[in-house]
Amino acid sequence: MKPHNGERAEALIREALAGASDAPAWRCPDCGEPLDGVFDACWSCGALRPCDSSP
Ligand SMILES: [Zn+2]
Repeated sequence: MKPHNGERAEALIREALAGASDAPAWRCPDCGEPLDGVFDACWSCGALRPCDSSP
């Protein structure tokens, strides 16, 4: 891999992380725990974030 490609990969990772931080907060459908958008699963009971959480 060329150094240029590595820099591109890092940029994509940063964009992905930035996008994740902008994810909307959601509420666990299982236990009702309010969760930040950065979480893909409830830290309290382990339930996965539902795909249809958008309003
Ligand atoms: Zn939960």
